[in-house]
Amino acid sequence: MRMPLNVRVRFRPAGAAGALYGILEGDTVYETESLFSANRGRAHPLAGVRLLAPCVPAHIVCVGRNYIEHARELNNPVPAEPLIFFKPLSSLVGPGDSIVYPSLSQSVHYEGELGVVIGKRARNVGASEAEEYILGYTCVNDVTARDLQKKDTQWARAKGFDTFCPLGPWIVPRASVDPQAFRVRTFLDGELKQDGAVRNMIFPIPAIIEHITAFMTLEPGDLVATGTPPGVGPMLPGSTVRVEIEGIGALENPVVRA
Ligand code: ZN
Repeated sequence: MRMPLNVRVRFRPAGAAGALYGILEGDTVYETESLFSANRGRAHPLAGVRLLAPCVPAHIVCVGRNYIEHARELNNPVPAEPLIFFKPLSSLVGPGDSIVYPSLSQSVHYEGELGVVIGKRARNVGASEAEEYILGYTCVNDVTARDLQKKDTQWARAKGFDTFCPLGPWIVPRASVDPQAFRVRTFLDGELKQDGAVRNMIFPIPAIIEHITAFMTLEPGDLVATGTPPGVGPMLPGSTVRVEIEGIGALENPVVRA
């Protein structure tokens, strides 16, 4: 795959404590002042840095049951409008970080999803203008304690454990890709488990942004997880899960016992 231009990363140079933003080009990461700055500073070899979650959102907003086949596989009705929930910021981790299997759950599922990163403050944005509010796209794993999701009357706990929102490995800018052509694939220990076309979403990205910004303000750097295709299932400590979107990249995380 040819790497698009101006791919956004967040990273930690070897031996450094702090996180930096950057632009990835080939095997080189160029420091930038922010997630949005185009000015390139110091160069770092990619091999010498640790990639982090590529943005630090103020909000992680998720859409549930946005693919018909996924709603059906869990015996849920197909929603008439986007079903919105939140993940706490404390659930955010980056590529390569561990997903910690909580002792409170006996059924932790992967949910590979396309992540939309917001580029400018958005409030009451209509679907027809939604695209200009998008910075770019990345991979998300909306890790879910399925047993607690069924047990609790809302999803805060099931979706909200620490490490339950792996994100990355980077953000591909909106201008260089067509999300309608994306497929979201999830592999568990190398075995293909989910393979869904983004064009099969019940509510497309512009409709999701219109729906969310009708009730809340989205800030630059916010994350919208757009729902998971069919094929969700359990993963166990010792497994490695990979969410892959052709045209973006692959987000891989090991699962470890708490
Ligand atoms: Zn999900």
